[in-house]
Amino acid sequence: MQQYFIENIVQVFDRICLCEDQAHHIANVMRMRKGEKIRIVDANQQLFLAHVQFEGKQVYACIDEMIIDTSKSNVDIILAQGLLKKEKWDFLLQKSAELGVSEIIPFISSRSVVKNKEERQDKKLARWNKILLEACEQSKRTSLVALHETCHIKQLKEIEADVKLVAYEDADIVSQRMVDVLKQHQNVKCIVVAIGCEGGFSLEEVEMLEQYGFIRVSLGSRILRAETAAMSTIANLSFYYDMIVEENK
Ligand code: SAM
Repeated sequence: MQQYFIENIVQVFDRICLCEDQAHHIANVMRMRKGEKIRIVDANQQLFLAHVQFEGKQVYACIDEMIIDTSKSNVDIILAQGLLKKEKWDFLLQKSAELGVSEIIPFISSRSVVKNKEERQDKKLARWNKILLEACEQSKRTSLVALHETCHIKQLKEIEADVKLVAYEDADIVSQRMVDVLKQHQNVKCIVVAIGCEGGFSLEEVEMLEQYGFIRVSLGSRILRAETAAMSTIANLSFYYDMIVEENK
């Protein structure tokens, strides 16, 4: 069943006119018929079952019932990610959304190979947000990923979270395991993990992040590509907080 995010706040029995992209997808891509069921997520992240109606080129969602949402994660996971080259970046956005990331903060650091050209920022943000929206709809998340504007690594100082991790490939794989750091923090509601770009972090950058309260952690003995490190860490954090911590409550 297809899912669509809308900007309105709705209730049962409302009838909402869907935007042009969604109307095109329903009518021309999915070739839905009148009465077919869809899922609607409203601006309050409430999940509803609805059915479609057609009037000319307009497509309406008629809200039938609210659905209990079981997809929400127990913890907000923020990914602070060194900007990557285009193809890897697009792939990372899509997979991070599927894996449950809450926010993504792209940053430029000393070893960034992608230069952040201001004049194209708006265009890139719009394309990146489209990738995230489509991944959220496809994975039936009921929350959208919040994508921040690209910042400089120094601005990660402003991030507030219960736990702040910096995945450092030269961290000690025995004494600085991520799981040991997670065990030291209880009642976590928000966690941020910083992952370097293709060239990684300089030691000075890691030490600067530690000044900002980040804790250096190893992701194991293998050196992962940046996109692999980001995706595996998001998956591991989701698993840890949604399975392990939940079961031990
Ligand atoms: N310096 C790395 C190298 O020697 O190839 C390049 C950086 S790695 C491709 C990109 C990022 O992934 C790193 O900055 C780090 O954040 C993360 N990463 C990869 N493997 C890791 C590991 N084993 N432990 C901790 N972080 C890792």
